[in-house]
Amino acid sequence: MIIKKGIHVEFRDLKRQYQENQIAINKAIQTVLQDACFIGGQQVCELEQELTSYVGVKNCITCANGTDALQIALMTWNIKEGDAVFIPDFTFFSSGEVVSLVGATSIFVDVCEDTYNIDTDSLEDAIEQVLEEGRLIPRVIIAVDLFGQPAEYTKVRKLADQYNMYILEDAAQGFGGSIGDRKAGSFGDISTTSFFPAKPLGCYGDGGAIFTDNEEWAELIRSICVHGKGRNKYDNIRIGLNSRLDTVQAAILKEKLHTFIERELDAVNEVADWYDVYLCNCVITPIILPDFQSSWAQYTIQCADSQIRSTIQDTLKAEGIPSMIYYQKPMHKQLAFSGVKQYFGYYENTERLCERVLSLPMHPYLAEENVEKVSKIIRNVVSKE
Ligand SMILES: *Cc1c(COP(=O)(O)O)cnc(C)c1O
Repeated sequence: MIIKKGIHVEFRDLKRQYQENQIAINKAIQTVLQDACFIGGQQVCELEQELTSYVGVKNCITCANGTDALQIALMTWNIKEGDAVFIPDFTFFSSGEVVSLVGATSIFVDVCEDTYNIDTDSLEDAIEQVLEEGRLIPRVIIAVDLFGQPAEYTKVRKLADQYNMYILEDAAQGFGGSIGDRKAGSFGDISTTSFFPAKPLGCYGDGGAIFTDNEEWAELIRSICVHGKGRNKYDNIRIGLNSRLDTVQAAILKEKLHTFIERELDAVNEVADWYDVYLCNCVITPIILPDFQSSWAQYTIQCADSQIRSTIQDTLKAEGIPSMIYYQKPMHKQLAFSGVKQYFGYYENTERLCERVLSLPMHPYLAEENVEKVSKIIRNVVSKE
């Protein structure tokens, strides 16, 4: 089936996506309503199985959202006060929030300017500094697959092995991305994703999933997701959460996963190729490393400076075209983390990116003529500067 392209430029066209899959999705929702089984059930089991085989891991446990997924991973490893968790400085707030929730300390690390992902040289420096100070124990590296491209896991794994740490892959934006023939969600000791509506694979509310090859952890995760259950949820053997994926959301995701695999992932890559061509030599376009594949949670360019960026954004807006700044503020500058000791005086790349990045409309239903239109407006602004 060929994807029909829309006329309006939406940042992420969820209405259009629904229209394309309306019959199947409506039917899936109706089945849940008729069965009146709203928590757990067959749809959740089937979705977990399909996700397991798509991602290529032994276990998938769905949960309420991507933030819970990260927290549950940290709880599974008993990460607590006195533990250091290393996180890219350029990411969504959740990645650091969960560290504070379990009482551990976030250590923010600069990112690579080209890939936007964690810089392993800065990471090693940060680990060494924490060890030298001797107050915290380095335990976990949270590597984020920002904007859809997996982090450089060969390098991250080397450091994790060297310093005896776990890798938690935050694939909230990376679902569908890959390195060679390995899919995002399979690179961490535990990996997580989010099904927030605007993510590469989104549901119609909140949702998340946790992936691991480790059977023991998988069992623990299943327990933590349901009030620390033992034999059943009225047999409580540890403190857990109430974090489950609703049956309705699982039914929707099952339908959307098929479309995602069959059409949407290729379609977003085609859109990215068009942008690359139309924006070439005008702004810095995203760099995807050789052998890496992005699922394009965002198509994020770098403008020359923040002045030009706001002119571009205003000009686009005047033409009815939305754009977003992901992210305005480095993690280490978030007020919520003002109590967290800064190990690093420098976050040069993150600081520079926060001044210059701009995310453009990106979704599988974006027409080439609209990519061309958006790009022309940007070209015009840049050539006038
Ligand atoms: C969206 C996102 C999350 C959190 O997912 P929710 O489902 O919204 O809780 C975590 N990490 C990153 C990088 C994200 O983009």
